Amino acid sequence: CGIVGYTGTQKESAPILLKGLEKLEYRGYDSAGVFIPNQDSTGDELVRQKGRVADLEALVAEKNVNGKAGIAHTRWATHGEPAVKNSHPQYSEDEKFYLVHNGVIENFMELKKQYLSDVTFQSDTDTEVAVQLISKFAREDNLSTFDAFKKAISLFGDSAYGFLLMDQAEPERMYVAKRKSPLLIGVGADFNVVTSDAVAMLDETHDFIELLDGEVAIIDPKAIQLFNEQGDRVEREPFHLDIDA
Ligand code: GLU
Repeated sequence: CGIVGYTGTQKESAPILLKGLEKLEYRGYDSAGVFIPNQDSTGDELVRQKGRVADLEALVAEKNVNGKAGIAHTRWATHGEPAVKNSHPQYSEDEKFYLVHNGVIENFMELKKQYLSDVTFQSDTDTEVAVQLISKFAREDNLSTFDAFKKAISLFGDSAYGFLLMDQAEPERMYVAKRKSPLLIGVGADFNVVTSDAVAMLDETHDFIELLDGEVAIIDPKAIQLFNEQGDRVEREPFHLDIDA
């Protein structure tokens, strides 16, 4: 339903992501969650909660969550009841990949049968099939995270998705993909953001790059690499959104 992501060099990401989720509350949701990897692996990285963003905030406050990049989601359940196990980020069996998703993967049942019969699932979501596929392709086909991500997406046909992916081994980087579900990249001086609705990130930036259907991107604190469906590099200037948060 709602997606926000942040990667930077200065600020802690948790308050920015939680504030972003609050701004997305008007869209409605049944659960929310955040994943914030930390390099020294002392903190809690995945925090998810049924109900309101305020409840997620309370849980994050109880835990030791720290890191300058992270992804967050408000879920409107389409596959799997509202529950902590079905909330996003969804993660792979090896707990290496974390994914938030807006939309529906229409053929997830077929893909699960065809590719993932040996995997233990922890949720009932279509989204988990996507993240388990990425993990499988990275491992078994020895693909980079970006190539495994693209290979998984190539199996989803005309399904609707906004995806934001993190790899535990690359705690500063986000991978993004979009089809028939809105997603924007917000641009900053020493950070970049991703959001399904600009309103969630106006406190951080007013400069956004629109993603088109089929495009994928790799986002670091100081670099954005955007590619079209054919795999060619795309250069697109941000537009300036002249409204207040
Ligand atoms: N289909 C996914 C799920 O049910 C994503 C729903 C959404 O867009 O929030 O978990």
